Amino acid sequence: MPATRLDGKKIALEIRAEVAQAVEQFVAAGNAAPKLAAILVGDDPASQVYVRNKERACEKAGISSQLDRLPASTTPAELLQRIDELNGDPSVNGILVQLPLPQPIGDAPPLDERAVLDAVDPLKDVDAFSPINVGLLMQGRPRFLPCTPHGIVQMLHRCNIQTSGQHVVVVGRSEIVGKPMAMMLAQKDGSCGPETANATVTLAHSRTKNLKEICLTADILIAAVGRPEMIRGEMIRPGAVVVDVGINRVGDRLVGDVHFDEAEQVASAITPVPGGVGPLTIAMLLHNTLLAAKLQSAK
Ligand code: NDP
Repeated sequence: MPATRLDGKKIALEIRAEVAQAVEQFVAAGNAAPKLAAILVGDDPASQVYVRNKERACEKAGISSQLDRLPASTTPAELLQRIDELNGDPSVNGILVQLPLPQPIGDAPPLDERAVLDAVDPLKDVDAFSPINVGLLMQGRPRFLPCTPHGIVQMLHRCNIQTSGQHVVVVGRSEIVGKPMAMMLAQKDGSCGPETANATVTLAHSRTKNLKEICLTADILIAAVGRPEMIRGEMIRPGAVVVDVGINRVGDRLVGDVHFDEAEQVASAITPVPGGVGPLTIAMLLHNTLLAAKLQSAK
């Protein structure tokens, strides 16, 4: 029997409706609507689509948003100054810098992604990339949870997929997906979401030996590699749950990191691409923006 499809789109709409309701209550209590400020440097077409989608999602949830479009020729000093202004603007609750930053033009100094993300006020860091927020997560007392891993945790929880005691193999160790994903699932006390911790986690990457054998031991396999359809059916234990984070453009198609047709025949449940993890990322960004507004109003 083919695997059940985990409908990220539907769950994301559920979460977005919950956030919209909570925003309404927050405003009814006398607060200004939460506000997200996005910075887009350069004119990467995919980034433009992502930012537009985030703006639309904010609007639907009652969150106001502003977009700073900066030219690709922006210098590091100019970008850091803009972030500093947003840090000091009390009307802005959340700041996101859309990645990737563009390559320098000619002899211009490069934009250092790490320095840029470090410059965002940790209380406005709705992507949860700042070292302070990463450290709090590591210690099991998170402030903001990173949006993509948090979306996955929410999806597993809302689909009644238990992680406690399960062996989760995360393939990919990026700072934004794989590494925090592994950390959240390994937490002891469920601080990263009800019933979603206490997993036994293996974090695999490009130097992992015997990747296929390791993947075959996974009760839950999470692929965040950025390589189209790299995870084949023969790498999946029959009955495993498969979460495909990958978004890869191949010709005019979007495909995940998992070979969907093969995986669907082996797994018990699987996220499609598109319509799986992607929509959840935006839903959790809205959640974090409201949380930022609440934290700042409590201060
Ligand atoms: P990165 O490129 O930052 O990281 C990729 C990771 O995969 C690295 O840790 C790398 O290992 C590992 N890797 C690469 N090749 C192999 C291999 N052959 N075997 C095992 N591991 C390998 O990617 P991201 O985490 O940023 O993104 C991963 C995918 O998820 C992309 O397709 C991206 O578009 C998508 N994505 C989707 C989101 C969503 O909302 N759905 C959000 C963010 C990303 P090493 O560290 O050794 O180099």
